[in-house]
Amino acid sequence: MLVALAGGVGAARFLRGLVRVVPPEDVTVVVNTADDDVFWGLAVSPDLDTVTYTLAGTEHPEQGWGLAGETFRVIDGLARYGVDPWFRLGDRDLATHLYRTSRLADGATLTEVTTEIAAAWGVAPRIVPMSDDRVATRVTVGRDDGREETLAMQEWFVRERAASTVVAVDFEGAAESRPAPGVLDAIAAADTIVVCPSNPVISIGPLLAVPGIRDAMARRRDRVVGVSPIIAGAPVKGPADRLMGPLGIEVSCVGVARAYADFCGTLVIDSGDAAHAPALEAAGVRAVVADTLMTDARVAAALARHALDAVA
Ligand code: GDP
Ligand code: CA
Repeated sequence: MLVALAGGVGAARFLRGLVRVVPPEDVTVVVNTADDDVFWGLAVSPDLDTVTYTLAGTEHPEQGWGLAGETFRVIDGLARYGVDPWFRLGDRDLATHLYRTSRLADGATLTEVTTEIAAAWGVAPRIVPMSDDRVATRVTVGRDDGREETLAMQEWFVRERAASTVVAVDFEGAAESRPAPGVLDAIAAADTIVVCPSNPVISIGPLLAVPGIRDAMARRRDRVVGVSPIIAGAPVKGPADRLMGPLGIEVSCVGVARAYADFCGTLVIDSGDAAHAPALEAAGVRAVVADTLMTDARVAAALARHALDAVA
């Protein structure tokens, strides 16, 4: 059995490769839910949906969220009422949020609803939220006039296009949250645990902030292998660099290794970063060099193979 800790797009690309080299039903994916929010009364879980849609092969190929071939008639219809629907949701994607919201209102847990949604899309790996409790990423930014303001993750990332300078990141509710049912047992029992190439601060960070998960990982350190989301000192995509720097994490595979060193014994870094291997070893993390830019599922599968072999 295999466990993967996952954010959104970077994780989903990796998982698409992973399920080509191991039986998909042997994989449990534990997904960040701290990007979740409520829009127009609907419970939206961006990373759960990205992972589910990508494993179903129905993800939007460029956008990084939502379904392929989407239309936006419903959300654009809000313009009539003079509101700015800055967080866009596609028409078909809306069905997922309607379903999730109504099931949660019926009293189902997020874990239960996530299983139902994955089954409906024919996804074989077990997809679980990190927690059934509400954990929310809050980004504190500095304004030009010196004031600080705390924003919801999507307000910073989508509405403000990740442009404002980050001062701090908090995971509201994390300290009181519990891991979703089965998460700690899965980590304890797994042959291998993969930390997907996801944003270390706002995708993997919230998972580690749920009490018990980081310790459970640390106990399996020799079986934990990560894939660096940072290649040649920059994220492949997304705002990781705008979050790591201000939080004192060097924007490099070395910075990732140091941030993960207590629970991740091995880190796969990109071939172009091979010169950094000694710095990883100095941080106590074994370096494995591979091609980590996942241009297609074939590259992702080869990368997954490398990662698994490294801790086999
Ligand atoms: P998000 O929630 O959709 O932002 O998803 P993640 O946190 O899972 O993914 C964002 C991270 O994935 C970024 O830090 C990227 O650098 C990383 N990423 C995306 N594509 C690739 C890739 O092909 N290779 C590697 N190594 N990292 C990638
Ligand atoms: Ca996300």
